Amino acid sequence: MNFFSTLKFRILLSYVLVVLFALAVTLYLLDRSGALPLHGLPGGAAQAFALSAVFALAVGWLVTALLARQFGEIVAGSKRFASGDFGYRIPVGSSGELRKLSETLNYMAGELGTKARDAELRRLELEAAFRDMPEAILVADGAGVITRINDRARQLMGVKGFEPEGMRLSGMPAGPELSSAAIKALSSGQAVQLEVELASAPGMVLGISASPVVEGGAVRGCVLVARDVTGPRRLENLRKDFVANVSHELKTPLTAIKGSAETLLSGALEDREHGPAFARSIYEQSVRLEKLVADLLNISYAESGRAAPETAALRLGELVAETAAGLAALFAARGVSLVNAVPAGLEARADRDKLSQVLINLLDNAAKFNREGGAVKVTAALEAGFVKVTVEDEGPGIPARHLPHIFERFYRVDKARSRELGGTGLGLSIVKHLVELHGGSVGVDSAEGRGSAFWFTLPS
Ligand code: ADP
Repeated sequence: MNFFSTLKFRILLSYVLVVLFALAVTLYLLDRSGALPLHGLPGGAAQAFALSAVFALAVGWLVTALLARQFGEIVAGSKRFASGDFGYRIPVGSSGELRKLSETLNYMAGELGTKARDAELRRLELEAAFRDMPEAILVADGAGVITRINDRARQLMGVKGFEPEGMRLSGMPAGPELSSAAIKALSSGQAVQLEVELASAPGMVLGISASPVVEGGAVRGCVLVARDVTGPRRLENLRKDFVANVSHELKTPLTAIKGSAETLLSGALEDREHGPAFARSIYEQSVRLEKLVADLLNISYAESGRAAPETAALRLGELVAETAAGLAALFAARGVSLVNAVPAGLEARADRDKLSQVLINLLDNAAKFNREGGAVKVTAALEAGFVKVTVEDEGPGIPARHLPHIFERFYRVDKARSRELGGTGLGLSIVKHLVELHGGSVGVDSAEGRGSAFWFTLPS
């Protein structure tokens, strides 16, 4: 750094100039009073001293004024930075320490500005996440007054047309389950975790977790998070029902087999007249068990996600005829006839084995649940890029209240009749899974006493 532009030099210079000024004034006054023998000097000495004094004063004043201005700019700039105006820059005109100071302050303001922008961005991100989260979030202070609440929590607590922030938890119009969990966490200082079915929305299960905010041993507030766990709970219940159903379905034929075997062992084996009936029963129940296990394997395979369909263009009419041929014995036993009305040449994109399984299950039901001597009619037509296949029968039909559940696992309209006909209650759920694997959908049109029309769609 050039010495002449340093702050030290400038202060020294103004100091020297002020001293010079004082000296010149003193000499001028001494001369005027005749105390100094300056009148012996060439003429105009007094004026020269006067001029020097004025000059020294002027230069000294200029130097200090410049310094004062720069300090003023630095102070003003610092105040703007302090008020958050990080875009402002202090003018860095002169050189020396003041220039360095201004540059450093400007750099610091730039850095602070970037950090402040980052922090604001983070705040906005958090704000957006907090606002739009599917979970309900609520923050209350130690006195149970709401300090923050997101949209979902507002919904659950019935907030409409007023600002809940600043209000007491107990003053919320709905969701008392949430308020009481938060109040409990505040009063006990312990985390509260529970699952409740909302009184205001029956069927909706909320997983609530309220945690106290503790500072220095005192409860300063609480944070409550509530999540909709209806789906997971429903799945859990389905799983439990499934296990219970499977156990029950396995137990029934096993009990029959065990009973028949015991009877045979305790003497019926020798009984030429009744013995064969027990052996037949064992055989029939084993067949039923085998079908149940096969259906269970089918459904677990269809649900596993490993069963990606290998699709090809298939002629539907031909596949229906082939499948029906495999079921000819069942049709004949019940005197049921098949009408294959699928237009010749109509194709669907599907996995051959899976589509066969769908047709087997639907045709098997249509024959089983038909009237003696009735007909099963299969039709198909193009509909919005899909082929819709319908299997109609002339059976007893299905009462309306059962229709929404008919594709559920183990759901049967008449359990005893289904078992008697060798059913497992899994056929339609397998149909649904397999069709949905292809991107299609299933449905049924039926009414009591009017027959049933089961349909499914497949990409054409
Ligand atoms: P199941 O092995 O009992 O046939 P499904 O899943 O195939 O199991 O069918 C479930 C229930 O739906 C059956 O038990 C029966 O009550 C009813 N159902 C299925 N198809 C028909 C039909 N074509 N007509 C009347 N009821 C039917």
